[in-house]
Amino acid sequence: MPKRNAFFYFMLDYRNKEEKMGRKFQRLAEVVPFAGTVWEKMDAEQRKPYIQQTKTSKGQNVGPLNSLGILIKDVEEKLRAQKNKVQTITNAIADQVKSAEARHELEKEVFYVLSLTYFGCTFEGIYLPAELGVVKYNLECGVTDRMHMHIHLDEIPLGAALSVQTHTKATHQLPLPPNALGKAFGEEVAQCLLNFLGATDEIPLLFTNDQTLPIVEVMLRQLLSDRITDEMLYVCPLSELFCKLKQAAERQFLGESYFPSALTAQYILQMDCYDYVMGISCDFHEKEFNFMHCALSQATRWTYIISKFCCPNMGIECIPGKHIPLPTNNMLSDIHTDEPKPGTSSIQLSVKQKKCDNACTEAKLATGTNLENIACCLETLSISKDEPHAGDLASNAVCNLAGNDSREEEKPKTCEKKAKE
Ligand SMILES: [Zn+2]
Repeated sequence: MPKRNAFFYFMLDYRNKEEKMGRKFQRLAEVVPFAGTVWEKMDAEQRKPYIQQTKTSKGQNVGPLNSLGILIKDVEEKLRAQKNKVQTITNAIADQVKSAEARHELEKEVFYVLSLTYFGCTFEGIYLPAELGVVKYNLECGVTDRMHMHIHLDEIPLGAALSVQTHTKATHQLPLPPNALGKAFGEEVAQCLLNFLGATDEIPLLFTNDQTLPIVEVMLRQLLSDRITDEMLYVCPLSELFCKLKQAAERQFLGESYFPSALTAQYILQMDCYDYVMGISCDFHEKEFNFMHCALSQATRWTYIISKFCCPNMGIECIPGKHIPLPTNNMLSDIHTDEPKPGTSSIQLSVKQKKCDNACTEAKLATGTNLENIACCLETLSISKDEPHAGDLASNAVCNLAGNDSREEEKPKTCEKKAKE
C-alpha cells in the first residue's frame, strides 16, 4: 500500500484532473513521474492543502484500496455520479421536449446537433480533434444554420502516429500534421462554437451520436475548459432526443406512441440512410467524395433522419435541403437563414445551397474553375430502386411498425452546395 503522505494526496488529485481531460492511467505508479515533476515545482503554499489532508486523514480508517490504488468507496462514488449524470441528461432531454409540447411549440424548439471527429489518440488516451460540424435544427424549418471547421494540429504527438494514420485513413482522410487544415483547437475555435450556440451564461444541450459521445465530450471539455464550469456542458445522446421527438410526434398524430425506445432510434441512426448524400459536406470532403466521414455531413444527415421520421407525424412537409436532401433537379434555395452574429470569427462557416445545373458544374470542374465561387449541383449517387439501401429498409420497417409510411421521401437525389470557409 502506498504511503499516504502529502504527495500521495496530490497524486490522486493530479490523476483526477488529468482523467477529466481524457488521459488514462492503468496504474497509480504511472502517475508518479508526471505528478512528481509538477510537485517539485510547487511552493509551500501550494503544497499546504495536501499536507493538511495527511493530518485530517491520520488515524482515520480511509478504507480498502483496489488494485489501482484507488479507494473502493471512491470508485463506488464515481459510478454513482456517472449513473446520476445519465439520469440528469435523460431528464433534461425529456423536460425540454415535454415543455415544448406543453407550449404547443414542439415544431419550433431548437436543437443543436454536433459531430466532432478526431485524427487518432495518444498512448495516454488523449483524442486529437480533426473536424467539427454543428447544425442548428428544428422540426418546422429543418436545418436553419450550420457551422464547420477543420482543426489544425502542428505535429502528431509521440507514440500516436500509428493510431492517427490508421484512424484517419479508415475514416475522414484529412491531411495529416503538419499539413492539417484549419485552426488550432484553442481559443478561436472555442469562441466560434460559443458564438454559434449563442451561449453566454448557459450552453444549450448538445446532441451527438451515442457511439462517439464520450470521446466528443472529453474533446469539448478540453476545448472549453477555460470558459465554462463542469456543470455547464451537457453532451447528450442523439438517440434519446430522436426517440423523445418521435414519441411526441406520434402522440400528436395518433394520440399515443408506438415508438419503442432510444435503442431503436440509435439503430436507425446507425443505418444512416443518407450516408452517400452529396452537397452537404465541407469543401474538402465534397472534392474527395468522402461524404460519409465528414463531420458537417454527419451532423446534417442525423437531422435529416429525424425529420424523415418525425415530420410526417407532425403534419410538416419535408422540404428538400432543409428536412431531407435536395433532389437533383430541384431549384435550390439558401439554407442559411441567419446572418452571422457580431464577433463571429471568420472561420465560422456560412453554408449556402444555391441553384445551378449539373452540366454547368461538371464543365467548371473539368476546366478547373475556382471552386470557392461555385455554388452548384452534382448528380447524386442515387440509390437503385432494385437494391434498396439497408438504411431505408430499416427505417421503413420501423415506420411501418408505427403505422407510418414515409416512402415518398426515399431515395433522394441530391445536389451539391458550396461551403465557404
Ligand atoms: Zn468535412
